[in-house]
Amino acid sequence: MMKTIMMMFTGGVTCEKVDEGLDDFLDGEMSFLKRMRFRMHFAACKACSAYLAAYRQTIQLVKDSFDRPDADSVVDEALVNSILDAQDRSNGGG
Ligand SMILES: [Zn+2]
Repeated sequence: MMKTIMMMFTGGVTCEKVDEGLDDFLDGEMSFLKRMRFRMHFAACKACSAYLAAYRQTIQLVKDSFDRPDADSVVDEALVNSILDAQDRSNGGG
């Protein structure tokens, strides 16, 4: 029952769909309705909202690296690990 109500609010957006569509969501390459459904899911799902926060933070880190003219290697190991870690958590916590 609770699951049915959740589906009504999120329009069938599952954790898996969030994982797949996160790039489009952040790039704004998504229809208004679909964005709303993603937002609903983030509001209802702690795992995905944590994932979104980690993802945004990672993107910011990458941008910061690009902004630094003296940075030889843009991607360092800690950054890669944090991305993998975030993906891991997203897949694990349904
Ligand atoms: Zn979720």
